[in-house]
Amino acid sequence: MKELLLGNKKTVILYAVIVLLIATLTASCFKISAEKSRKNALTSQNSELKKSNEKKEKELKEKEKQLEEKAKQIEEKDKQIADLEKKNLELTAARQKAAANPPQPAPTAPAPSFTPPSYSQDALNALIADMTLPKPVEIPNKGKVCYLTFDDGPSTRVTPVILDILKKHSVKATFFVVGTGNLSLLKRMSDEGHTIGLHSNTHQCYKISAENIYCSPYTYLLDLKAVSDKVAAAIGKRPGVIRFPGGGSNKVSERVCKGIMTTLTKLLPDMGYTYFDWNVSSGDAERDGVPKDQIINNVLNSGPVARGEGICVLMHDTNAKATTAEALEGIITGLKARGYTFEALSPGNFGFHHNVNN
Ligand code: ZN
Repeated sequence: MKELLLGNKKTVILYAVIVLLIATLTASCFKISAEKSRKNALTSQNSELKKSNEKKEKELKEKEKQLEEKAKQIEEKDKQIADLEKKNLELTAARQKAAANPPQPAPTAPAPSFTPPSYSQDALNALIADMTLPKPVEIPNKGKVCYLTFDDGPSTRVTPVILDILKKHSVKATFFVVGTGNLSLLKRMSDEGHTIGLHSNTHQCYKISAENIYCSPYTYLLDLKAVSDKVAAAIGKRPGVIRFPGGGSNKVSERVCKGIMTTLTKLLPDMGYTYFDWNVSSGDAERDGVPKDQIINNVLNSGPVARGEGICVLMHDTNAKATTAEALEGIITGLKARGYTFEALSPGNFGFHHNVNN
């Protein structure tokens, strides 16, 4: 019995050992399998991470490429802006040059039927002798002085407004008058210290006809004498300052007489007259009603003003130039703020001459 019990006990122990072994083995198997699945999970996680990293890298490269392209575009835009700025500067310079030397209408050949009026040398000599004035004494250049000049008046509505503004600011100016203007204002101009200059009696300088003042030196002087007589009747003397219609650089005169401006720009100074062109244009001749701010800007932002040079400003005082009168106060205060003083022209002043083109 004891053996039997002992035998059973051994069997039980044996079984127990076997069961323990199996249990241990099973546990190990589970552990290995768990480890394996954890490893698998990690591997797949790893590969996913790798994939996502690759994707991110690709996206980054794409972004870098886009940024490079953007930088390139910005560089190109910068270049375009620099080009535009350069062009703008060139345009401004050209505009200022054009304002100082306005383009003249293209000359057309004289009409075949046109014959300039004839004159005798004696008649011309007599006219020259009648009109000749004493030679002016040269006045040295005074530096930062502004000579305001008004052409084509006096007019009934605009000139009195201009005279009032000049009086208010104690500014003296110059009026290049025409014989068809409101001559009753000449006395007031003279009494208030302004210079009256001669422009033309008829201002007829465009038509290809015998009435054109530029047909010959004789027709020019006849016209000049007519307006000079009118001014002398009003103020008691012949003015010695003149401005050619269209300026000394005009080419319109070529329609009726080739070379007339070359002749006149020598003849008139020989006769004691000083002719004045201009180095600053207010731009009011472009059309009627140029906005007053534009007129002010044309003067204050002109090259000669920027450089602080002496200036002779071209303006007009016909009834059509109301905005010129409106701009005058801004021009005066703007120039005063830039250190300019104002004077009326004298025959001894420097003429601000343009190049002669005919
Ligand atoms: Zn004129």
